[in-house]
Amino acid sequence: MSMLRLENVVKDYPLRSGVFGGTSGVLRAVDGVSLDIAAGSTFGLVGESGCGKSTLSRMVLGLERRTAGRIDAAGRDPQELKGASLKAWRRDVQIIAQDPAGALPARMRVRRLLEEPWRIHRIEPPHGRPIQVAQLLSQVGLTERHGRAFPHQLSGGQRQRVVIARALALEPRLVVCDEPVSALDVSVQAQVLDLLRRLQSEYGLTYLFISHDLRVVRSMAAEIGVMFSGLLVERGPADAVYRRPAHPYTRELLNAMPSIDGGRRLRSVAFGPPAATLDGDARRTGCPYRLRCPLAIDRCVAERPPLRQVAPTRFSACHRAEEVLSATRTSQSIGDHK
Ligand code: ADP
Ligand code: MG
Repeated sequence: MSMLRLENVVKDYPLRSGVFGGTSGVLRAVDGVSLDIAAGSTFGLVGESGCGKSTLSRMVLGLERRTAGRIDAAGRDPQELKGASLKAWRRDVQIIAQDPAGALPARMRVRRLLEEPWRIHRIEPPHGRPIQVAQLLSQVGLTERHGRAFPHQLSGGQRQRVVIARALALEPRLVVCDEPVSALDVSVQAQVLDLLRRLQSEYGLTYLFISHDLRVVRSMAAEIGVMFSGLLVERGPADAVYRRPAHPYTRELLNAMPSIDGGRRLRSVAFGPPAATLDGDARRTGCPYRLRCPLAIDRCVAERPPLRQVAPTRFSACHRAEEVLSATRTSQSIGDHK
């Protein structure tokens, strides 16, 4: 069963320019993204800052209307809902976002913060709020002492645990995790990711897990999608994509990662000469990555590559995906030789 399905989802923002603020064209923040997440599983969405990840998540959460396409989240189209049915649906679909410092109201104690979702939804938890708060705290590895604290008295990792507990209070089915550990130190990141994994298996949660960090996404998701400039440019099993990318942008992401596992680098062979000149206007028609792509050819200027199947479980939006797949492989990476 599918818990989240996106079909050709598009989001345009009007571009304003000039002193009178007239609109001139649009910024296509999300450009025809399709994906499908089975109930109980995690789909990882990765891509650099500004590629459209949060815009996508706001549409999934019903916080923003889309320009085109279809969304089915936990059985409903958020943008068709209002009133009581919207409120009911919001219990099923929650967000865990970045930067707890800004996300939590500063003047409420943690235990009150954790009661808030019930108050807002006018629900009395089965065993009463104090007991339920204590349970939530222990589920995320906090204690009564943390419950009495104010957010600023907690560490970044503890605050993020509070954010997670709040998202879980209403027993959601689908959770959008938008850069949930990006504001945390690496050692704390690992603990919070462990917690998210444990909660998922305990409650059968479905995650749309968003991060700019491919390593984080790989550790969380069985399947990943790589986004560039509003487009899904690659999709496939996380391990396969990580070991043998099928899109040059994915390869760039991998090569940019700090190498903690032994100077890991992707070997590549020489390709033909890159496209000579690329003017700004042609950006709309060709491949949006070609301006940075070491493999760009004339065809990449003339024709936008669609996301297509390039191997049994692999999809790539690159005209030269087959060459990328066969020409790159990871070297010296742990696990390659087992
Ligand atoms: P990411 O989460 O991947 O960093 P975003 O979804 O935040 O990317 O942004 C995608 C693009 O859309 C960016 O170019 C950003 O400037 C633009 N954008 C995001 N929100 C708005 C908005 N409310 N109005 C106009 N442009 C926006
Ligand atoms: Mg974002």
